[in-house]
Amino acid sequence: MLYTSTRDKTVRVSSAQAIAQGISKDGGLFVPESIPAITPDFIASLLPLSYIERAKKILALYLTDFTPEEIDLCVNGAYQAGKFSSNKVAPLQKIADGANILELWRGPTCAFKDMALQLLPYLLTTAAKKTVADKTIVILVATSGDTGKAALEGFRDVPGTKIMVFYPNDGVSPMQKLQMTTQEGGNVCVCAINGNFDDAQNGVKKIFTDPAVAAKLDENGMMFSSANSINWGRLVPQIVYYISAYCDMIEAGEVKNGEEINIVVPTGNFGNILAAYYAKAMGVPVKTLVCASNANNVLTDFLTTGVYDRNRAFYTTTSPSMDILISSNLERLLFHLAGDDDKRVAAWMRSLSATGTYTVEKDIREQLLALFAAGCCDDEATKETIQKTYAAGYLCDTHTAVAVNVFEAYRERSGDRTPTVIASTANPYKFSAAVLRAVLGSVPADADEFDQVELLIETTGEPCPKQLATLRGKAPRFTACCEKDDMERQVYDMLGIG
Ligand SMILES: *Cc1c(COP(=O)(O)O)cnc(C)c1O
Repeated sequence: MLYTSTRDKTVRVSSAQAIAQGISKDGGLFVPESIPAITPDFIASLLPLSYIERAKKILALYLTDFTPEEIDLCVNGAYQAGKFSSNKVAPLQKIADGANILELWRGPTCAFKDMALQLLPYLLTTAAKKTVADKTIVILVATSGDTGKAALEGFRDVPGTKIMVFYPNDGVSPMQKLQMTTQEGGNVCVCAINGNFDDAQNGVKKIFTDPAVAAKLDENGMMFSSANSINWGRLVPQIVYYISAYCDMIEAGEVKNGEEINIVVPTGNFGNILAAYYAKAMGVPVKTLVCASNANNVLTDFLTTGVYDRNRAFYTTTSPSMDILISSNLERLLFHLAGDDDKRVAAWMRSLSATGTYTVEKDIREQLLALFAAGCCDDEATKETIQKTYAAGYLCDTHTAVAVNVFEAYRERSGDRTPTVIASTANPYKFSAAVLRAVLGSVPADADEFDQVELLIETTGEPCPKQLATLRGKAPRFTACCEKDDMERQVYDMLGIG
């Protein structure tokens, strides 16, 4: 299977090249030229297998230039026993009739990003060996909080790699910030920027696609790659858990093989829900993909009207990992829905960068309406949902609560009772203040982050993951904060090149 660019169909590269390179030179994203089909028999063959063995079978459909031994090594390393706090890796929890939470945050950093970022370093170093031997891979990350920590943890001390993370200074939770600024490892660097996530993402994209910067790295035996969800190596591991969740729905007796499910995803950069789209396009019987947003509801509007418009107020919410106005991965969806029309995609993206908006035509809009339902909720509704869901027996974080809220509203207005998988993307202790405010009604004014953790433990009896609890009192290693125009300089400093 070969991969092409969403903005230039003449590009044709192997999966190893797509993963090593991260983004196409024309600024487009790599997509598979065709989406592999799976049958109910294939799904039946996955049922008795562990998550690791399911992952190997599914990844082999996309990474056709990796040998079976290479895939074994990558997957065994990523999901080995002890790395995830559930032996199912991503367990399903039934919370109500027809509502099943898919816990994607059982990994080392307690957010769903671990599902992909534990595997990506293996995929990337294997891919680099095949394509660009001997070069040091430099990973640049823009993060709204969770990607940064998960990428740092995934790439920490991986030979032949260096990683630099930029995060918005006022746009992440205290726990997220502490997780990143205390990161250990000899090949890591973390820097705050004065700006929001979109500024960080734009800055990284600019450095990344600047030929002069690339030439400078090349002179020094280095090359950039990306750990953001623009990298195909981030997306493909996420397809696995939706197919595996369908298997678990069958095993739990929620559906029979061949019967439909719905999938609800709290969405920011459109990576996680795009993986669910790929699972559906492959043949998993998914009726509706429900896209859940917080107050930054640019996707709710787009999926219902066909007009993408980022010219709007930006809100800092209690679900910061979804505080995004430019959802990069939408570009991949549009490429597939437009029948691989690279010219059309390139024109939309030109319009987006020139005016902040684009409008898709009727043919695309009709497909969007058939595939997706969309909804959003504000912080107040998020809080009420945490409270209600907790009272019914399940403590969820703010992002998951957005998904639960939008799911309930969708079910109410559509009457659609299809058994549903709701992606749960973070452990509640990553966002203790907001969760505590929801379950207690208020937070004592003098309580610091870890007092809040203690209170949340006392109140709910839910254990706090050790890797979060032990951050208490740990001194930050990385305290720098730069202007958004100074990111390139920071990268050179980290790499020790002038
Ligand atoms: C990244 C993230 C999201 C959004 O996922 P996308 O793939 O960017 O849509 C949602 N919730 C949490 C907790 C996250 O870390």
